[in-house]
Amino acid sequence: MIKINEHYLKLQASYLFSNIAKKVGEFQTANPDKEIIRLGIGDVTRALPKACTEAFHKAIDEMATDASFRGYGPEQGYDFLREAIAKNDFQARGADISADEIFVSDGAKCDTGNIQELFTRDAKIAIPDPVYPVYLETNVMAGRTGEYEDGRYKGIIYLDSTKENNYVPSLPTEKPDLIYLCFPNNPTGSTITKAELKTWVNYAKDNQALILFDAAYEAFIRDKSLPKSIYEIDGAKEVAIEFRSFSKNAGFTGTRCAYTVVPKECAAFDSKGNRQPIHPLWNRRHCTKFNGVSYPVQRAAEAVYSDAGKDQTSELVAGYLKNADLIANEIKNLSFDFVGGDNSPYIWIQGNRDSWEFFDMLLDQTGVVCTPGAGFGKCGEGYIRLSAFNSYENVEKAMARIKKTLA
Ligand SMILES: *Cc1c(COP(=O)(O)O)cnc(C)c1O
Repeated sequence: MIKINEHYLKLQASYLFSNIAKKVGEFQTANPDKEIIRLGIGDVTRALPKACTEAFHKAIDEMATDASFRGYGPEQGYDFLREAIAKNDFQARGADISADEIFVSDGAKCDTGNIQELFTRDAKIAIPDPVYPVYLETNVMAGRTGEYEDGRYKGIIYLDSTKENNYVPSLPTEKPDLIYLCFPNNPTGSTITKAELKTWVNYAKDNQALILFDAAYEAFIRDKSLPKSIYEIDGAKEVAIEFRSFSKNAGFTGTRCAYTVVPKECAAFDSKGNRQPIHPLWNRRHCTKFNGVSYPVQRAAEAVYSDAGKDQTSELVAGYLKNADLIANEIKNLSFDFVGGDNSPYIWIQGNRDSWEFFDMLLDQTGVVCTPGAGFGKCGEGYIRLSAFNSYENVEKAMARIKKTLA
């Protein structure tokens, strides 16, 4: 008899985005003349940089003649891209990462979801709350948790991110083996300082743990004192894997390209307590289960690092940050407590009422769509997330309506 993986049955149906869509649909039906402005989205809205589309076109033309056609590429990614990444994203910031430590993939979602395969079923997992759901749900699927009770899966060490700790979790009292961190954070928009990140790196080292660091939003960091990579912290190469993506800095959400950094020094332990490097394991997994990102997409990603590409991506990010500034300023004027928006496209607002109640009120009275914080975890209750991914005109309009209604 074929049996299913019953851990899947523990997963809570996520009503977050379907509920939002349903409520927005109902509002639109009831108010056909009212223009809805979506500030709930976690997806970019502006076109790919010109440098990227030009490289994309050129690479497609190469595929059109036998002489320059390319079939299967290296699973880990083409050297031209891995070298551009290592040089620009790490070596230029004093982080000693080499091209062969970069694994190019079709998404940080897949990589952050797949990485847990390398570790034992009984590994103790620490996960932030609120959180990007992928970290949690892939561990539920793998059977590393118990049942869901009172908004939480049993067996997970939750790292609360609250106003009290300025949305940077404190070190846990129970000892984890695997620690997920994400900065700048989705959904809160909070950032971590080098000193705070160093305490996590030291903690991992002292406890033979491993940090999975999701830096999908590093391009939004304006404050030069903040770390863009965990490898800017001494000793991190031994205890951390970093995830990056072209989705948010260069608009690749629909184009798909990302990468994971697994330093050669990074290790976990076998049952005898011996250090085992993770690099060969991830390499083996990647080569066995993945066949590489398409050549034109890798050429488009490479163009992010050209002079024109650098200018165009920083202009894109600056545009979203201008939106974030406007949102943060208006929210501040309305005297709400909030975090984010300065080095992140997200603004996390303490609404002083139930998350969904705030969502409904905002939609009904202003036509603005936010994301209820409760959808990201227990600690998100009472919060909403506003996103800077929209046009400046729409953000201006949305904030003017919110100001008029809530002031
Ligand atoms: C958007 C996002 C990613 C990137 O995912 P892709 O699969 O590369 O598009 C990764 N982590 C977080 C927290 C994100 O919000």
